[in-house]
Amino acid sequence: MMQERVFLSSPHMGGNEEKYVKEAFDTNWIAPLGKNVNEFEKQIREYTGVNASCATGSGTGAIHLALDLVGVGRDDIVFCSSLTFVASANPIVYLGAKPVFIDSDLDSWNMDPKALKRAFEKYSAMNQLPKAVVIVNLYGQSAKMDELKAICDEYGVPIVEDAAESLGAEYQGKMSGTFGKFGIFSFNGNKIITTSGGGMLVSDDEEAIKHALKKATQARDNAPHYQHSELGYNYRLSNISAGIGRGQMEVLDLRVSQKREIFDRYADGFKDIKAIEMMPELPNSKHNRWLSAAVINPELTDVTYSDIMAALNEHNIESRPVWKPMHLQPFFEECDFISEADGIDHSNYLFDHGICLPSDTKMTKEVQDKVIEVIKGLF
Ligand SMILES: *Cc1c(COP(=O)(O)O)cnc(C)c1O
Repeated sequence: MMQERVFLSSPHMGGNEEKYVKEAFDTNWIAPLGKNVNEFEKQIREYTGVNASCATGSGTGAIHLALDLVGVGRDDIVFCSSLTFVASANPIVYLGAKPVFIDSDLDSWNMDPKALKRAFEKYSAMNQLPKAVVIVNLYGQSAKMDELKAICDEYGVPIVEDAAESLGAEYQGKMSGTFGKFGIFSFNGNKIITTSGGGMLVSDDEEAIKHALKKATQARDNAPHYQHSELGYNYRLSNISAGIGRGQMEVLDLRVSQKREIFDRYADGFKDIKAIEMMPELPNSKHNRWLSAAVINPELTDVTYSDIMAALNEHNIESRPVWKPMHLQPFFEECDFISEADGIDHSNYLFDHGICLPSDTKMTKEVQDKVIEVIKGLF
């Protein structure tokens, strides 16, 4: 008998979400904003330790606001991790700027400090410093923020930390998402917690978040009539969605430990198969293991990630390739790509041989054993 579809990662409610949504109904704070939004923003501040937060309708919107606030505009250059979901890069284009994509290293899968350094050397020699650097924390692992930040600081360029996937992760004892001038989180349906759709912009700069709050609500000046002195957006999170977020924050730590247990069971299950190389965890950091990812080393086996996907799919189990890097996307064909040395492309290697295994926290141990058995059967 075929079991129900096993998902990569799907919404997993904690139990109190409906209570907070109901509160919004009971007080008729369906809109605008309201207590759930305020409380949800406060929870994120307390959880991550930042000074200020602005809930948004999406993580993409939060990136757009962040890049706007650091002054990205027409014909500017913005450095951005190549190995990511397209939403890290699209807001650069919304603002009329041009992304330059930076390769990953193989120990974090995130932006390679050597490649970033090369990019700065190349573009500063052309007198074209980027206006910002978008650094992504892939699959819940922080990038090497100390090294990357030192390079950005040297050139005086602000970081927008795309922590859409890494809420709950830590790097050198500090919460992921708190390393840049701005950090952003996503609460899209498949993320570690969800508001059905939503995001959050965070920063230690309270003035900057005040400005973000204004821009996110159509940039209305403080006047009874509708007056606007700058460009704004309609980017705030609804009070209903924020109610879901409040309930989800109560189970975030539980979800992180569940995700980490799922990863550990895979690592243990595949320990005798040398060709399956589980995504590393940087020393002195905590991966939230949003998705359990691995590389199938082509030098050790003929089995490919697509063989694994097909085998799992026969059992009604979802898996995915690793994100297709931005510099290989048709839409970004014209954009520059910089790696540690000419001819090297780690993000393409990870894309060609990587796989994201089912990481749903509702998946039972028995079902996960099945996943492991099906994959082991191929080797
Ligand atoms: C999900 C995601 C986003 C976008 O967040 P949305 O809330 O879906 O707009 C941005 N960057 C990365 C790396 C993501 O995974």
